[in-house]
Amino acid sequence: MLLLFDLDDTLYSKSEQLSDSYTEQDLARIALFPGAADLLKRKNITKVLVTKGEEKLQQQKIKILGIKSHFQRILVCPRDEDKRKCFEKALEEFPDEEAWVIGNRLDSEIRYGRELGLKTIYLRHGKYSGYVPRDAYEVPDYEVECFTDIAQILKVEIR
Ligand SMILES: [Mg+2]
Repeated sequence: MLLLFDLDDTLYSKSEQLSDSYTEQDLARIALFPGAADLLKRKNITKVLVTKGEEKLQQQKIKILGIKSHFQRILVCPRDEDKRKCFEKALEEFPDEEAWVIGNRLDSEIRYGRELGLKTIYLRHGKYSGYVPRDAYEVPDYEVECFTDIAQILKVEIR
């Protein structure tokens, strides 16, 4: 199984933990969603993190959340539309029949995941939770409001 994760508002609550004009000092307060660490710690699942933003800031978030070692690959891209390329890169590097995308943006992660024929889980959380799909590619396979519901969809046992 290959899992492609978004970071902001998918693994932690950016909307609740950081303001729009956050600084490096503010990053110290971020913490993972309940259940996120348990899923990320699972062995025998390939995990790739695909996140948009400034390399230095995103790497700092990853460090503070303590999640670096859980990912086989971490890809930081400057624009949302670059995520599609990142997904393709991950699929090339870690070919797997069962590949999932998990994210909080219908117009980004979910759209590119669907376009590439992957299974998608939409975490309806934060700033973009009111977004309405523009077309069928923005309709996810699964929708959850709580990170802890993801493991059940993946049929992964969390201990
Ligand atoms: Mg996000």
